[in-house]
Amino acid sequence: MRVLALATLAVALVACAPSAPTPTVAPLASFTPTIAPLASPPPATARATDEYTRLRKEMVVSQIQSRGVSATDVLQAMNAVPRHLFVLTEFLDQAYEDHPLPIGYGQTISQPYIVALMTEKLRVKRGDKVLEIGSGSGYQAAVLAQLGVEVYSVEIVPELAQAADERLKRLGYAVSVKQGDGYYGWQEHAPYDAIIVTAAPDHVPQPLVKQLKEGGRLVIPVGPQGSFQTLWQFTRTGDDVKAVNLGGVAFVPLVTGR
Ligand code: SAH
Repeated sequence: MRVLALATLAVALVACAPSAPTPTVAPLASFTPTIAPLASPPPATARATDEYTRLRKEMVVSQIQSRGVSATDVLQAMNAVPRHLFVLTEFLDQAYEDHPLPIGYGQTISQPYIVALMTEKLRVKRGDKVLEIGSGSGYQAAVLAQLGVEVYSVEIVPELAQAADERLKRLGYAVSVKQGDGYYGWQEHAPYDAIIVTAAPDHVPQPLVKQLKEGGRLVIPVGPQGSFQTLWQFTRTGDDVKAVNLGGVAFVPLVTGR
């Protein structure tokens, strides 16, 4: 396998930083009515839907476009998916901020910019088939589904897999979620036009490369646990893989062997 490093972004990115394990699962944010009933004022953390829409637009302009993500469909998807419905209620007021947030079980929902960057580098088009490893909250999968692609997502933590599955269904995103070890991909639906890995292994899992179509893209952070990793975009060309270095990131580790 030949690996060529073609480009480096000189920016260190915090994507999906490890967080302390959360022993209990707090309820996730649910639909916030635009008009609060007069008798019971909304809690301090709840904001009107219009306010979330405004915060989301601001997020896209100031965190994502400003850093060079320009694919119109990706920007539209980031504008459309209600990120606040994928965070724990205790972090509702930070849903559109420029950093990852804890989602329980020591895991995190990635920083919005990283979600947008990785999505852009997958170079998907409507109708493509995409595999995600690390469903987490389901947010990245929802952004992909918003682009009109067929999404398969694997999550190793059973509770997170179940919660993501339920949330995505409730919000109407066509995503298939399964609990399992994503190191081995999801052979049943292979080959994929693109594969995105949102937890970091210390080497590229060969089963994932094998499940890519010819010309398919794999976007994956690779590197040591508990430190910075490198985000790569690999493109499968025959038996070769072309690699583009997308810069430094910090993801939770890809765990195996459960
Ligand atoms: N994409 C997610 C964020 C992912 S955080 C979102 O949008 O919210 C990384 C996730 O990868 C965690 O939920 C973690 O449990 C999961 N993970 C870690 N190792 C894994 C493995 N081997 N297979 C599948 N999922 C894994």
